[in-house]
Amino acid sequence: MEFVKFGNKYVLRLDKGEEIVETLKEFCSQHGIKLGWIKGIGAVGEATIGLFETEKKEYHSVDLKGDYEITSLLGNISTMNGETYLHLHITLGDDKYTILGGHFARGVISATGEFLIESIDGEVDREFNDEVGLNLYKFK
Ligand code: FE
Repeated sequence: MEFVKFGNKYVLRLDKGEEIVETLKEFCSQHGIKLGWIKGIGAVGEATIGLFETEKKEYHSVDLKGDYEITSLLGNISTMNGETYLHLHITLGDDKYTILGGHFARGVISATGEFLIESIDGEVDREFNDEVGLNLYKFK
């Protein structure tokens, strides 16, 4: 991974073999980015995407292997219990030019990854919400 910084924005290149979620999380921790947004494109050879089943309040996920274009990765940065917390979603294009998408848990770069992190000078924490079953933004 290499990056350049312009003001509150970081432009990153992730390289073949790097796992996206861990790399971005580590980057945010190391640079003290506690609030912000992430977007990106690129290609992955493996990915795990999920769907939250609202009725049962549980995540289901699927592991993908093959050539996928990251047609869009979008997500945010916040904190929970003092730790960096990333919430990422992704859409992937496959060899039939169809799209798969969901909550993004894991993905390994197969060619390159081009990301923008926009840092916001602030901090938003999260807390588990029983009714929904997810870690929600906490504003008070
Ligand atoms: Fe999600």
